[in-house]
Amino acid sequence: MISHTDVEKLLSMRAAGPVVLSLYLPVPLDPAAVRGLAAEAGDLMADAGTSGPDDASTAGVSAADRDFVLDALAASGRDWLGHTVAFFACGALGLFEALPLPCFVPERGVLAARPHVRPLLAALQRCPDYRVAIADRRHAWVLSVTGNQVHTVARKDDQGPRSPGFGGWYGLETHRVQQRIIQLGRHHYRDTAAILRQAHDADRTVPLVIGGHHDSIAGLLHALPPAVREAFAGSFAADPHTLTPARIHELASPVIENWQARRERELAEEIVGQAPGRLAAVGLPASLAAVNQGAVARLLVAHDGLIPGFVCGRCGAVCAGTHECPDWASAARAVPDLVEEMVQRTLDEDGQVTVIRDAPFSTAAELRFPVTSQAGRR
Ligand SMILES: [Zn+2]
Repeated sequence: MISHTDVEKLLSMRAAGPVVLSLYLPVPLDPAAVRGLAAEAGDLMADAGTSGPDDASTAGVSAADRDFVLDALAASGRDWLGHTVAFFACGALGLFEALPLPCFVPERGVLAARPHVRPLLAALQRCPDYRVAIADRRHAWVLSVTGNQVHTVARKDDQGPRSPGFGGWYGLETHRVQQRIIQLGRHHYRDTAAILRQAHDADRTVPLVIGGHHDSIAGLLHALPPAVREAFAGSFAADPHTLTPARIHELASPVIENWQARRERELAEEIVGQAPGRLAAVGLPASLAAVNQGAVARLLVAHDGLIPGFVCGRCGAVCAGTHECPDWASAARAVPDLVEEMVQRTLDEDGQVTVIRDAPFSTAAELRFPVTSQAGRR
């Protein structure tokens, strides 16, 4: 599955002109429907590069890049059932990637100077890796979820077979944690909390879901160190006896989805409401001005579709129209998506990007410093 490292790697690639193909293709669950995908991919690739603001078609997708996509589909289409796959191809850069995404994104074909990563970011944000913990008197189970893959980090079941020397746990990697579990053996909240703490220390960005009976959810939550408790995203009620990894995935996924949606909503409200101490730009023109002045700490993107525009080849300004940059007439380059340009510029300058659903703006930004004019650079 993809990670933010893949996004960084993709964004490090840059061609002289609009010759990098980015193709997002949802693969249906039905194996019989896979045969029709080649035609759909072909249509998307034929349309890519014709969406410039001035209707100027580019040279189109190269034969080698098109063949890469079609060959990959023929070879691996059946491995991708039910997944959206992102293809990135540019023979000139030696770029040929086919990445199955952790969640659905709509189909899209784009030809630009860099890989089009906006849908990739949305998928990473909406279907993040997460952990699940279940603990009561008899059971303790810690799992990690990446996309559709569920992996047991550690498990103990008082009624199941015990592995000698591990107090019934398996999957534990360090002697230190094993020792703690032996000492705390009867208290599953505390030993589960110790494992979660170790996992949290390894990666602090991963949210946590707790499952089980109501009182055991509260018991484990109470036993967590404060830093781990901050990663708590929500819980689901279930009888631990009945749980399988597949069922846990099914119950935990909506918890993560709701947590993510809540975070997006809160962030949008803080920006629109101009929460105290926060400088913000709301709307496309104000966000463009902020991007062009290097003022964006965090870009919020609500708009799903492409907004064609221009980038000035001389000063680098990103513009919606033709009059905003003093030297644009001699140096402007048409781009298929202004929002993607803003996203890339923000990431290039170590800002953050968050995709927002149902926001009252197309784009908005949290600023590092005030922007001098709403309208643009002058
Ligand atoms: Zn310029």
